[in-house]
Amino acid sequence: MIIELGKTNSIFNQFLYQLRDKEIQTDRMRFRKNLERLGEIFAYEISKHLEYTDKEVVTQLGTAGMQILKEQPLLATVLRAGLPFHQGFLNFFDEADNAFISAYRKYSREDEEEFVIKLDYISAPLIKKRVLIISDPMLATGGSLVAAIKGMLEKGKPKHIHIVSILASHEGIETLKQNFSKIKMTIWTGAIDDELTAKAYIVPGLGDAGDLAFGTKNDDI
Ligand code: URA
Repeated sequence: MIIELGKTNSIFNQFLYQLRDKEIQTDRMRFRKNLERLGEIFAYEISKHLEYTDKEVVTQLGTAGMQILKEQPLLATVLRAGLPFHQGFLNFFDEADNAFISAYRKYSREDEEEFVIKLDYISAPLIKKRVLIISDPMLATGGSLVAAIKGMLEKGKPKHIHIVSILASHEGIETLKQNFSKIKMTIWTGAIDDELTAKAYIVPGLGDAGDLAFGTKNDDI
């Protein structure tokens, strides 16, 4: 299942607009804050698809029957642009266990358009049939998310995977579907954009989310 939140008019699109706008996005603090705010909105929407259990709450004046989360999901993200996005999920699933994955593109020195995905580091608990929410702001070719999810699956089989990207490409979505056809998953995105550049950036997209949030990096070594 694919859910595109930007298709419904809401404040979500206001924050996505600010992430895309080439002037507004130069304010790094606002850029990170908007990634976080969108993480919160995705968390809220995903919470409607989780399991709940009955619980009575004792108030000052009596008792009320309520439904509360049966269990917290496991929250995973891909470094580095995922960090502020992840914080948004954590603001809502505040008791959740967390996982961090370093998966990134290593461009070839000979051909600037060629890259391989490097997976250097995973810090994660065992999955043990939990619901896994894995966030990565940009789903372009799908290469780093596929590597990240495969790495996470070594920690156990989740009950369901929610894969969340603010912007996605058709190619990225197809890659995920092909790689994880046997897994129960939902792909959440803000919008599905038309194209990828030769260097596999999403068009119109927003640019390099990691650089916009944290500054450019040096890839020489
Ligand atoms: N990563 C980004 O930050 N932006 C893209 O457009 C694609 C991958």
